[in-house]
Amino acid sequence: MNQEKNIPSPISINFNDLSTVFEQSTNSTHFFIDFNSSKIICIDELKDSNARTKLSQMSKDKRYLKIPSRDINDEELLIEGFIYEPRDVTLVDTLYKTVHRKNGVKHFYQLLESQPYLKEQWLTYRSAVLRNEMINWLCNNNIELTNQHLIPPIEIKELTAEEIELLPDEIKDFRPYACLRCHNKDGMKARIFSINVSPENRLIEQETNRIMKEQFGVSHHGGWSGGDQEFLTASQCPRCGCEEIFWDY
Ligand SMILES: [Zn+2]
Repeated sequence: MNQEKNIPSPISINFNDLSTVFEQSTNSTHFFIDFNSSKIICIDELKDSNARTKLSQMSKDKRYLKIPSRDINDEELLIEGFIYEPRDVTLVDTLYKTVHRKNGVKHFYQLLESQPYLKEQWLTYRSAVLRNEMINWLCNNNIELTNQHLIPPIEIKELTAEEIELLPDEIKDFRPYACLRCHNKDGMKARIFSINVSPENRLIEQETNRIMKEQFGVSHHGGWSGGDQEFLTASQCPRCGCEEIFWDY
């Protein structure tokens, strides 16, 4: 993605520092990674009269990479995503109505102030989403950080026929239906795996793909979320060997 930048790998920048500046970046406060010093540099247009010149020079310099800025639209999207988070249906309804009236964002923040538990939930949600966005950005730019475990260890286990039998019907009835390459519908077998994490960022997806390939010989899998438990699904066409299969109920 950023062949034009000199990105050493890995670099020794603290992930939490990156996340913090990502949360603080705006259309006027810009942050860059300096690959020569492994430091984060801030250019604030409101405080620095030479900011424009510096920004223009730094954007062309291979040494610096700009950390994405966030604006009010990003914040609105984040709030939209949060509306359906609470398990309490009444609360979801209240949030929906609050956010979708005039000056919704302002009313949303006011609502949070009157409900400390909800505010806590919002802050947790917001920092988790931004953390994943930061991880995705690092992945997209092929930036690896030294000695930092950004994702938990992933455990994947293939379910036996007996274990599959014990699953709820809605996952058992979800079956490989037709090969996307040769359209064969016969002899499709479902493989189901349990996994201890949800695919919330690119790093988790990459690691999941690697484990599925290395441990189970699967190069294409699907996902199925059963509330608290996540599953992976895989199948292979017995006629042509293709692993891209259309699943249906
Ligand atoms: Zn096929």
